[in-house]
Amino acid sequence: MERSSSADFRENFYTRCHLCGRECGADRTRGEAGFCGEGATLRIAWAGLHYGEEPVICGAGGSGAVFLSGCTLRCFFCQNHELSGGGGPGRDVSLYEFTEICLMLQEKGAENINIVTGTHFIPSLAAGISAARERGLRLPVVWNSSGFEREALLEVLDSFTDIYLPDIKTLDSRLGRALFGVSGYAQAAARAVLAMAASRPLRYADDSSGRLVSGLIVRHLVLPGLMENTREVLTWFAENLAGRALLSLMFQFTPPRRPLPCGEGADSRHKIPGDWDRRVSSGEYAEVLSFLEELGIEEGFVQELPDTDELPDFSRADAFPPALARPLWFYGGPENA
Ligand code: SF4
Repeated sequence: MERSSSADFRENFYTRCHLCGRECGADRTRGEAGFCGEGATLRIAWAGLHYGEEPVICGAGGSGAVFLSGCTLRCFFCQNHELSGGGGPGRDVSLYEFTEICLMLQEKGAENINIVTGTHFIPSLAAGISAARERGLRLPVVWNSSGFEREALLEVLDSFTDIYLPDIKTLDSRLGRALFGVSGYAQAAARAVLAMAASRPLRYADDSSGRLVSGLIVRHLVLPGLMENTREVLTWFAENLAGRALLSLMFQFTPPRRPLPCGEGADSRHKIPGDWDRRVSSGEYAEVLSFLEELGIEEGFVQELPDTDELPDFSRADAFPPALARPLWFYGGPENA
């Protein structure tokens, strides 16, 4: 049987995988696992309506979130850490099943398709969204990632993404190396985010809803004891992106329930700066707000200090509290949770 050009396109990327800055070179089509731990078939853990993203993303209907399994960074402090290691929760899905999930989210009223942590599956997602468009998907696509995208892949991302939602965790190369055990995160994220801003100017829906239909929101997770890191990211944002993108500051850091370093993303040869056994303090919160004022950053969102340590639990269909999300698909079945 003749192979389709779309399948060739995917296989080329997965055969010697250089999809992210780790550039493992793994042949994922033959079962070799790179750092992300994923093969050449899309693996999904959870999909549903999510109400906890930024208001311009959630709108009235909720964001149609699709959580992929595996991750190219595997931050030891990630809220979704359960999903990020190879072999974690998730189930292989065909491209057809992926299109079914997208169309179901649309039918249930999602405002967009929000691809969460999909860098290691870019070729499959490009093909899947294209197939879903052919079957009637009309929603904007949100690319919700760590920002660890290679410049060479941005053209592919641009082919199916309307709204970029990257998280710049640090612009300090040494801190990036200590946190993730890889060189070049800071440079890669800065380059990628500038390119995203250039290709997706901010545009809102032509109604009174305030929904974003195209553009860039830069997220930054504030980490306890690392105020200089946050100041550096905010200063960079003010100098390079103010007026062209929105900023979203997150304070949801919860102390990892595992010993440090985790031996995965972090480089155990370095002491990792930061106060990892506590949440961001109210004093640090106030300090970050004063950075915003000092730098004149006005457009965006600031999360309140959370008062709970509850984390998503992806061993259950209702992985999030009901006020935060409504599950519609779960890897552990039944098909529609
Ligand atoms: S996507 Fe995975 S296999 Fe490919 S380079 Fe990145 S970590 Fe390695």
